[in-house]
Amino acid sequence: MVKAVVGANWGDEGKGKITDMLAKEADIIVRFQGGANAGHTIVNDYGKFALHTLPSGVFYGHTTSVIGNGVALNIPVLFNEIKSITERNVPMPRILVSDRAQMVMPYHILFDQYEEERLGGKSFGSTKSGIAPFYSDKYAKIGFQVSELFDEELLQEKVVRICEMKNVLLEHLYHKPLIDPKELLETLHEYRDMIAPYVCDVSLFLDKALKEGKTVLLEGQLGTLKDPDHGIYPMVTSSSTLAAYGAIGAGIAPYEIKQIVTVCKAYSSAVGAGAFVSEIFGDEAQELRVRGGDGGEFGATTGRPRRMGWFDCVASKYGCRMQGTTDVAFTVLDVLGYLDEIPVCTGYEIDGEVTTEFPVTHLLEKAKPVLTTLPGWKCDIRGIKKYEDLPENCRKYVEFIEEQIGYPITMVSNGPGRDDIIYRKSPLQK
Ligand code: GDP
Repeated sequence: MVKAVVGANWGDEGKGKITDMLAKEADIIVRFQGGANAGHTIVNDYGKFALHTLPSGVFYGHTTSVIGNGVALNIPVLFNEIKSITERNVPMPRILVSDRAQMVMPYHILFDQYEEERLGGKSFGSTKSGIAPFYSDKYAKIGFQVSELFDEELLQEKVVRICEMKNVLLEHLYHKPLIDPKELLETLHEYRDMIAPYVCDVSLFLDKALKEGKTVLLEGQLGTLKDPDHGIYPMVTSSSTLAAYGAIGAGIAPYEIKQIVTVCKAYSSAVGAGAFVSEIFGDEAQELRVRGGDGGEFGATTGRPRRMGWFDCVASKYGCRMQGTTDVAFTVLDVLGYLDEIPVCTGYEIDGEVTTEFPVTHLLEKAKPVLTTLPGWKCDIRGIKKYEDLPENCRKYVEFIEEQIGYPITMVSNGPGRDDIIYRKSPLQK
């Protein structure tokens, strides 16, 4: 049985916590897209961790952590991450890396930086982890696949060919130091020696595991609105953030994915540039930012302050629909306990008309939020274990949002820890 944990919005919805929690009942956790450009924050018995590449199941002894073919694999980052958790007494996790995954090369990171510099004020707000140059190369068919590390003849020929191409751009567009093919080959040899013990035919491994009745968790990065096709193009990421892509990025049949848990945060936050209709500013935003998440809404990879906003029903309804949601995990609800009233964005006004359907980017940029204000509950809800024990206004907030988005909220997260979760039977459950 395969379950996916994915995001409905711009990322940072709390997927790491939900994956870590669901991983307790899973055998295998697979990262299927993205790279080290975003982070998941996890709080558990070992402490607080920010993971960028490793799946959020690495903290359990019984799980296998898999880096699927769809991931942008940064080998040095992976190794640093393994070191950073084992140094803090987490037992060495069982890790498998797809032989079909491609690798982020040092020049991808440089190109990412150089391009942001070149664009100046018009930049995309990239985390400069090399993700866009990596995926560009993958689809231009000039990327390096893990399997190629073990074909020396191919490597020697390919480094020369790639350097010729990259060096034209480095010299004439960016005016930066050139890449030396010999050094690049040495780097690839280092990568080969580092990764060799973990390399595996992941799709075959998963096929066997599923036949044996194992539970597989697919862990998404970012959220629907950052999907290159269905998100706020071009302010998106470079690999699909949708559960459907989990089948491709892990190498399994699409019909194996039986449960899609879409994580929605009880308010909005976003990083990077792009339209953000329910955005708030000034003191109102700063208060929510500082109280938000677990220790404030600041990027797990970059430390950047996140942009803040009220819950957006239009974006979240769309976000859940594109994921194929079976369950919504509604997170970080505890943070809203300080507010007297809580505005919620229930529609977008575009050219004088109100819509509840999420539009394409040029219309999104014109959208103004239509807000409905709900009463707050003015107390701390952490520690509550039963849905009925939540304050009435808090339940009303959950139920109002559930009705607006049209997908069943079956989990409510009221704290960062593994056990801070309230399961709920939703009237929308089939
Ligand atoms: P991800 O990328 O989707 O995994 O999200 P992040 O890890 O970037 O952001 C989620 C933040 O919220 C992390 O700091 C989590 O520890 C924290 N978090 C997750 N669920 C809850 C919750 O229910 N309440 C609170 N207060 N914090 C939460």
